[in-house]
Amino acid sequence: MLITQLKDKETIVSLTEGKKVFIINCHGCKEVHFPEKEAKELQDEMTADGKVTGILTTDYICNPDNLKLRLEKHAEEIKAADAVLVLSCGVGVQTVAGYLEDKPVYAACDTYPLPGFQGVTPLEYDCDQCGECYLNLTGGICPITACSKSLVNGQCGGSKNGKCEVDSEMECGWERIYRRLAQLGRLDVLKCPTQVRNYATDEEVSKAE
Ligand code: SF4
Ligand code: SF4
Repeated sequence: MLITQLKDKETIVSLTEGKKVFIINCHGCKEVHFPEKEAKELQDEMTADGKVTGILTTDYICNPDNLKLRLEKHAEEIKAADAVLVLSCGVGVQTVAGYLEDKPVYAACDTYPLPGFQGVTPLEYDCDQCGECYLNLTGGICPITACSKSLVNGQCGGSKNGKCEVDSEMECGWERIYRRLAQLGRLDVLKCPTQVRNYATDEEVSKAE
């Protein structure tokens, strides 16, 4: 099981500042806690501010085939948006980012682990439920699962010809992140000071358990 929790409001406001956004709101599978009330309040507020081009409320956005069909119905609203804001677990955000490669895709939630059944996620994309989602700094590619060392400030010095030094069959996750950010014109993100992980999230998880 996992818990998704909205990032703090300041973070979400700064991500969407001056932008028109399309919102994807995943109700999630039954085993997953989702902050429905807070998510609705946030969307109502953004809609009242005239920032929203459209909202897709659905479930299982982690399924790429289902997601593609659903997004096709909102193609015009997505085209009119500068960015897509996704309220879901880390797998859902990565699935959207994988489909909308030319559009900035932002994670509005952090994902925390809980023991037990993990739902029916198809796992085409992986999320380690790290409790502090980095996808907004990495072009929607998870550095925890796409990099063999789970570096949050890669790449390491071992990458050769785009391959990972730990597994030469695997593409270096940080090369993928660099290419995605370049494609989006967001390489400036890499100039940010190193992001320090907030280990207090572990404490919050313990409390939730
Ligand atoms: S950074 Fe990766 S592991 Fe952490 S919550 Fe986001 S998708 Fe999951
Ligand atoms: S080569 Fe790339 S994927 Fe492999 S550990 Fe280094 S940064 Fe991570």
